[in-house]
Amino acid sequence: MEIGNWKQAIQPEPVPRVLITETAIRRRVRQLARDIKRSCSRRTPVVLGLMNGALFFLADLLRELPPVFEVRCAAIASYKGTKSTGKITGLENIAGDFKGRDVLIVDDILDTGRTLAAVRARLLRLGAKRVDVCVLLVKKKTRRRAVRVRWAGFEIDDEFVVGYGLDYDGLHRGLKDIRIL
Ligand code: 5GP
Ligand code: MG
Repeated sequence: MEIGNWKQAIQPEPVPRVLITETAIRRRVRQLARDIKRSCSRRTPVVLGLMNGALFFLADLLRELPPVFEVRCAAIASYKGTKSTGKITGLENIAGDFKGRDVLIVDDILDTGRTLAAVRARLLRLGAKRVDVCVLLVKKKTRRRAVRVRWAGFEIDDEFVVGYGLDYDGLHRGLKDIRIL
């Protein structure tokens, strides 16, 4: 054994367990895009992706949506490690002209709902006419604040997940499937 590998040999990195496969995600994203297209056929929305978690979901969804959908991103955070801090940072990153617009918020996961409630309130303050929410994942148990989600990919149990854009302090974001840490 090479000396440089000793740590790995003694304490192997835990491999997170797969919860939702790459194939299942791809299929579901296509269905969501189809539903969104159908109901947004009259007014063109601004798609607002919440970074960094929605990075992959937004990119895949956009590839299935018409190019006339305007895209904006804002970096919003509330988590440290595997816990919600309850304090949402980055709301000021949501700026610019939203007056009279239909906005479609795209986020990775709805947990307590605090993030989406705050983002939604901010958009309405900025003059958005209508705000809809599309999230890839919804946690079954921990939903406390009632946020109306119009499009949701999957309902999951109350576990901390990573992959497909979701991170644990910056790690695991690049995984192609969604895994339980
Ligand atoms: P909320 O404000 O709804 O409690 O938290 C939503 C945000 O917390 C999500 O956009 C996401 O960034 C983060 N989050 C909540 N649950 C998880 C999880 O299981 N895994 C990861 N990686 N992030 C989570
Ligand atoms: Mg997020």
